[in-house]
Parts: sequence; structure tokens; C-alpha cells
Amino acid sequence: MRIMQLGNSAARPFKNGFNVSYLADLTIWTTTPQYLLMETPPSIMNQLAQADIDLSFIKWVYLSHQHGDHTLGLPMILVSEYARRSTKKWNVILQESMKQKIIELVLIAYPELEDYLEKQVAFHTIPDGKPFSLRITPEHTISTVYGTHGVPSTAIRVDGNNKSLVYSGDTGVSDAIAELAKKTDILIHEAGAGTVLPDQKLSPNHTCAVEAGKIAHQAAVKKLWLTHLDNNHHDFINRCIQLAANQCSMPVATEQDFVWITI
Ligand SMILES: [Zn+2]
Ligand SMILES: [Zn+2]
Repeated sequence: MRIMQLGNSAARPFKNGFNVSYLADLTIWTTTPQYLLMETPPSIMNQLAQADIDLSFIKWVYLSHQHGDHTLGLPMILVSEYARRSTKKWNVILQESMKQKIIELVLIAYPELEDYLEKQVAFHTIPDGKPFSLRITPEHTISTVYGTHGVPSTAIRVDGNNKSLVYSGDTGVSDAIAELAKKTDILIHEAGAGTVLPDQKLSPNHTCAVEAGKIAHQAAVKKLWLTHLDNNHHDFINRCIQLAANQCSMPVATEQDFVWITI
């Protein structure tokens, strides 16, 4: 499995940065790539273009929650496929209670997509408030649990070929996510609480870097990436990494955009 970061900023993107999004490459036996796209922020088409990703290889899309920095790009992806008369099937994984809202969002942007949505897009719904898992290729399974956020938000684990990754979505500190992340190869955890220290947090709906380090320790993950960051000034990033690393024994990093990393 390979993973590419397409952005790691919180709702307000950095200069030269993008809202959070990740692409997992699930290709094993076939020569045609098979990707899972996690999150579709408003600038997702630009992000995918910069990463030189062919949309036709994205088989699965996962949305952690309804906030615009995670969802507003979906209509742009679908309309671009509609416009080029693609017959590719899309599989969208999202919370049951989000499905109708996302359909409306797409139809507000492009009412012409009604037929296309019905024929080309399959929605796979996560039951509200409950854990969920689904086989998405013969070798890969995804599992989701709910974290704690201003609106319901899920974390996802991808398992395949003896490798795994977990992406937290937006969340405060969550034991369910620590459990989901048990011994995973990479935990991509948000640290978007506006500070690196728990007692200076602006909101309980996000995690700070120190808390992300504690969760990585609790889950005994092999590597921690911090994401959904408020600031990419190198002093802030270094402090995030250092203080998270003080809580755990595994490597802690923030990743560069548009680089494939083999897990
Ligand atoms: Zn967000
Ligand atoms: Zn959010």
C-alpha cells in the first residue's frame, strides 16, 4: 500500500498549502491503479492536478464528516467526470445521515448531474453512531468508528496485504480511535486544536499535538503523522513534532504534499 498526502491544513489553508486530503494506492495485482481518496476539500481538483492523478483510477471516495473543508470538492470531481462522459462507477463511503445532504450539495452545484448520480455513484453508508467495515478490494478492508467533533465525524482504518493505516478525520481525543489504530503502520492524526498543548486548546472538538502523541502511544502505532494543522510555520511544526514525540516512542512527522510513501 502507498499513501500520498494531498494537503494537511485545517479549514483555512496555508499559503502554498491545501485542506486535508489523502490518497491511498490499493493496487496489488492489477496493472490499473486503484485509489481510495479520503476527503474532497474545495480545491481537490487543483490538488489532484498538482499530484498528476488520473481521476479514472479513483474507485473509492471516503468523507469523514460534512464540514466544507472535507466535502465541498466532491461536486467538482463528479461534474468533471460527467462532462467527459465517463462511464466509471464511483463508490462513496459516508455517514448514513450525510447521504441526502451530499446529494443535495452536488445537485445545488450541478442540477444536470441527477441522472449521473443515480447511475454512476454508489453510496456505501456508515450506520449513524455505529462502527462499520467494508471490503473494498479482494485484499483490502476499511473500518470506521466515530470520534468526537462538532458534527458526527468518523475515523477510517485501511487494512490490506499485512499493512494498515488510520486517518482520524476531525476529532477531539477519542478512545474509539485509539482502539481502531491499535498497532497500525501509520496513524495520520489531526492536531488542529490551534495549539500544541492541551490546556491551551480553543475547542474540545479538535486534538492538539501533545494529545495526538498520547493517542499514538496508547495505540502503539509504528509511525505518527500530524495533520489538519492550523499553521505551517516551521517553528510551530517543529514544536508540534517535538512535543508529540515526547509522548511516544515511534517516529513523528508532518509529511510533504504530493509524494507517494510506501507503507
Ligand atoms: Zn476540518
Ligand atoms: Zn470538521
